[in-house]
Amino acid sequence: MAKRERQGGCMCGAVRFVARDVPGVYDICHCEMCRRWTGSSLLSVSVPSERVEWQGRKHVAVRQSSEWAERAWCTQCGSGLWFRVTDPENPGFGMTEIPLGLFDEPDGFVLESEIHVDVKPDSYAYRDEPHRKLTGRQCNEIYGSAE
Ligand SMILES: [Zn+2]
Ligand SMILES: [Zn+2]
Repeated sequence: MAKRERQGGCMCGAVRFVARDVPGVYDICHCEMCRRWTGSSLLSVSVPSERVEWQGRKHVAVRQSSEWAERAWCTQCGSGLWFRVTDPENPGFGMTEIPLGLFDEPDGFVLESEIHVDVKPDSYAYRDEPHRKLTGRQCNEIYGSAE
């Protein structure tokens, strides 16, 4: 799927976004923080931060969830809005991870990779497509830090 402009927003509509250069792929993170944050696992689409325009910023709360990343949510309805690396030294810096479910049209994205698969609960699984699967240790080797 070619990169394109997409729109989305939180459950109550107080926060909306327009994202440009949105890829047709998404990733899944099974780390404990994403599990507790979402209640399951984080399915997210990675978009260059400067290509995302957020509306309703006064309803956005941001928490530094680790030394190197932040998570944001809507203060009106609680929907998770983004995960973003804040450490310029981290390879993920400059990108905003937007939950797949926030997009108005969430169909058609292709699963690219699952990470922290070694801590995924065995209670659920995603379609067994030929995507990349990385353990926490492999993530640390690639990204230099745990989530
Ligand atoms: Zn909301
Ligand atoms: Zn995670």
